[in-house]
Amino acid sequence: MKYYAIFGNPVSHSKSPLLYNTLFNYAKMESSYGRFLLNDGKKLRHYFLLLGLEGANITVPYKEEAFLQCDEIRGVAQKIGAVNTIVKEGNRLIGYNTDALGFYHAIRPYCEPQNILLLGAGGTSRSLAIQFQELGRKVTVLNRSKNRLEWFHHHNIDAYTYDEPLSSSYDLIVNTTSAGLTDNSLPMDESLLQHYCFNANYLVDVNYVQTPFLTLAHTLNKPFQNGKNMLIEQAILAASYYTALPESTIREVLSTIL
Ligand code: NDP
Repeated sequence: MKYYAIFGNPVSHSKSPLLYNTLFNYAKMESSYGRFLLNDGKKLRHYFLLLGLEGANITVPYKEEAFLQCDEIRGVAQKIGAVNTIVKEGNRLIGYNTDALGFYHAIRPYCEPQNILLLGAGGTSRSLAIQFQELGRKVTVLNRSKNRLEWFHHHNIDAYTYDEPLSSSYDLIVNTTSAGLTDNSLPMDESLLQHYCFNANYLVDVNYVQTPFLTLAHTLNKPFQNGKNMLIEQAILAASYYTALPESTIREVLSTIL
């Protein structure tokens, strides 16, 4: 039997056990996937090894800590500095980031943005910013506070606080903040947000509940999507490290669940 888990805090809401166990059953694999509420991120590697895991997914707020605790980082995760998937190879833990490409796959059928505005400056915003930068697209980040902006400046990405007015219009605006997840708030002042959204072609909220941001998108009659497609696409990429199933089969199985 092979064991896998998701680490995070909170983690009870995570759909990952449902997604991966359904996949393992479909593939008739002797594998099981659980969730682990981790209170101390520094102990991530310790528990991974103690539980005898073959692989794990990492969610808020431990993606940066996971990056530090892997023996090797592969792909775009190196530049992002955050890991959401760990795979055991021999005695070594290999870290990947599937959020970045997962997001791109999620939106690609609907828009090919050249000029992107990201609201929020946390781990998810970093992943998306690096992914679009690698694709040669123009990225701007807006955040309510200043502290997290330095990382973006260091990576040559324009990043501002909300009080610095921007004049451009954007093909795509993505809410990567957790505003509206557990409360009724928008990520920024409503009239300013309306202005940006009104001039945008496509809107995305990475959260997969109906947030006030998505309600605004609906009110403005703009095409939009929530975080469900991203969740599926990043899981497809992660699952391809755990199973030998082709990506198209993984997509078909996971899409029937959510
Ligand atoms: P982080 O904690 O790293 O960053 C959160 C960001 O949101 C910060 O920039 C923070 O600003 C900002 N923020 C938080 N609350 C508010 C608020 N009320 N108003 C305005 N700004 C706010 O989180 P992550 O980037 O890791 O995750 C963000 C969200 O994305 C989570 O809700 C997560 O569930 C979701 N997610 C979804 C995925 C999917 O597959 N669909 C994948 C990954 C994440 P400040 O710097 O000022 O604190």
